[in-house]
Amino acid sequence: MANSKEKSFRKIKRSYTWLSVVTLVFVLIISAALINGALVFFTLYSVNSKVDNQYEYVKSMASIYEKSSDRENASLRDVLINECPNFVVLDKNRNDIDGHGINSCSDVGGHLGFLYADRDYVVYEDTDDTILEFKSIGWFQPDLWLLRDEVMDSLGADKPDPDEMDPGFEEDNSLDSIDKSEIVDMPVWMETGLSNGNRFIVKTNIQIRALDVVVFVIVAACLNMILLIITIAWLIRIIRGIIRRKKTEELFLVDEVTRSNNWMGFLLNGERILKKGKNADKRYAMIHLVIVKYRNYCMCHSLEEGRRILFNISSLINRTLKPKSELSAHVSSSSFVILIEAENGDEVKFRFDRLLESLKNADMQMNTPRQPGHSDTFHTFNFQAGVQYIEPNIIDGKKKKRKTIDIEQYYNNAVTAKSTLEVTDDDGIAFFDSKLMEDERWVDMVEEHQQKALDNEEFIVYYQPKYSPDKAELIGAEALIRWQSPDFGFVPPGRFIPVFEKNGFITSIDHYMICHVAADQKRWLDAGMECVPVSVNVSRAHFAEPDLAEQIRNMVDSVGTPHEYIEIELTESAFFDDKNAIIDTIERLKSYGFSVSMDDFGSGYSSLNSLKDMNLDVLKLDAEFFRGNADPDRKEAVVSEAIKLAKRLNMRTVAEGVEDKDEVEFLKKQGCDMIQGYYFAKPMPGDEYEERMKEKYHMPEED
Ligand code: C2E
Ligand code: CA
Ligand code: CA
Repeated sequence: MANSKEKSFRKIKRSYTWLSVVTLVFVLIISAALINGALVFFTLYSVNSKVDNQYEYVKSMASIYEKSSDRENASLRDVLINECPNFVVLDKNRNDIDGHGINSCSDVGGHLGFLYADRDYVVYEDTDDTILEFKSIGWFQPDLWLLRDEVMDSLGADKPDPDEMDPGFEEDNSLDSIDKSEIVDMPVWMETGLSNGNRFIVKTNIQIRALDVVVFVIVAACLNMILLIITIAWLIRIIRGIIRRKKTEELFLVDEVTRSNNWMGFLLNGERILKKGKNADKRYAMIHLVIVKYRNYCMCHSLEEGRRILFNISSLINRTLKPKSELSAHVSSSSFVILIEAENGDEVKFRFDRLLESLKNADMQMNTPRQPGHSDTFHTFNFQAGVQYIEPNIIDGKKKKRKTIDIEQYYNNAVTAKSTLEVTDDDGIAFFDSKLMEDERWVDMVEEHQQKALDNEEFIVYYQPKYSPDKAELIGAEALIRWQSPDFGFVPPGRFIPVFEKNGFITSIDHYMICHVAADQKRWLDAGMECVPVSVNVSRAHFAEPDLAEQIRNMVDSVGTPHEYIEIELTESAFFDDKNAIIDTIERLKSYGFSVSMDDFGSGYSSLNSLKDMNLDVLKLDAEFFRGNADPDRKEAVVSEAIKLAKRLNMRTVAEGVEDKDEVEFLKKQGCDMIQGYYFAKPMPGDEYEERMKEKYHMPEED
């Protein structure tokens, strides 16, 4: 799930905005060039054709000038001056050799003959009354004449002085106010060749219709406006895309309670940090931090208050981190993940202690009083952390970028390390090591094989006899599971029962054992053997099922074993679960004729209270009573009182883990009913147990 989410997020991240921006810029440049190029061409074309109209006139003036240089035609000069009062004549070296009027011909000129290649003229600006502007646009058209802005303006109404301009006046300056039929004279100088190689330059007027200019301006404005609209629309699209992406990113990467990273944010940002080349030689620690009993806190206060605590804790964590190279995230209700740089365990511990200190101190300020009016009732949380190192990536003495990084695996390891602290609620920090890795692998393997093992009957029932301490008579047995695995060999229950208890498979194991024990007992009874009750362990998880008593009865009945041959062992710790449900199950089991025992009495928390409420048949004293360094007198005092207590409650007693004769003697004196321990017998396969049944009395040999 997380994986597919991550994939789709990466897809969104890859929605290349920069590509849209580059495309936009590219399209803009191309279309601006095309539109404005076309406009330039249009201008050029129209000016060019106007100029060309003047060509004949210039040519005829040049010919009059040439003719007027003959003596007989000297009077033609007057005609010429009358026709064109301003002209200049240049020799081949462009020296001024003749002329008339004011020479306001500029130096800048250009050919406009691209329409009529055969025509030999050059056009110059008129510097007094410039109406054309020379522009070079590179290879495209080296000499380009454009209408001056002033000319355009002159085609409109008279421009008022901006200071005096009243708001309504602007209207008059619009293109609408132009008299479109008006013809405007635009003075330019035109140069043409004379037959002797000299150049004749004459001031002439190009006539432009106001309507042409208006059309030109409107077309240019419209085209550029369209371009502008397209650009704005495109830009809006890009900006909206960026905003949408930011929002999606937030949805994917930001935790809504802490406003910091969520798991996905941690994955992506953590990967970025760890993959950076400059971080390749750094050792990192991935910390799984859990607030102990956070749920209880939320239940006592409110979910809202719990969220506030999470927000504050997250802020405090972030305050202790290096801004660019360290990271934290809120992963689930009570847990955070933190990535820090740390050389060794001491450094991690130091930073953890510092964080703990700030979290503890902050607790005082951030918790609301439990009850109004009791401002001193503050809550202080405990924190537990699991740590997994991410080693520097140094190959052949050189640091190499971490190419792949499985953050999820590192995190799992940190979680596994933390789980070893779960036996208490105290503050603590645990490091993931190879032993834990082995354990993890083992758990994986057991889980992979469990169902197949059950189906193939790889689980075997061993029996450990229980003897009376006085006559050494076989009076009971406990069924204990063994796993004869083709893959792992002979596996003792301590290696797999805790795994099954955690993953729930234990209920199938309990069924399996009850069925097999019932079947063995039935077979032995049918064979005419003198059977004794066999106790079967039923796990704590199983006792939560409301119809457990009926399930057991049905299983035993399906084989046909009389109920008095089956005893159910319930471990001491189970009595801390739903008491009423357990009492109910015990009563029903007893009503069906099964006896029920309390296993491991004295091993954990005192269950004296449970004894008061539960009508049990057998009390099994835990082997711990006989172990440890405590003073033997004290040990004996406790055991003897426990036995007395059981007797007063009409319970029989079984002493577990009895290994030597003195213990047996002592227990006999105290009135203990049964001994289960290596002194008499270790757990054994069914056929060996059959022999013990036949033997009935078993007196161990003296050393
Ligand atoms: P338990 O129910 O307390 O079983 C007694 C354990 O003490 C057995 O270990 C037994 O071999 C051991 N034991 C008995 N006498 C002595 C002794 O004199 N000295 C020493 N050192 N040990 C002794 P085992 O068979 O390894 O079982 C361990 C635990 O695994 C059991 O503790 C029980 O909690 C669990 N278990 C075993 N079989 C089953 C089963 O079929 N179902 C369930 N739910 N749990 C089982
Ligand atoms: Ca047991
Ligand atoms: Ca036990």
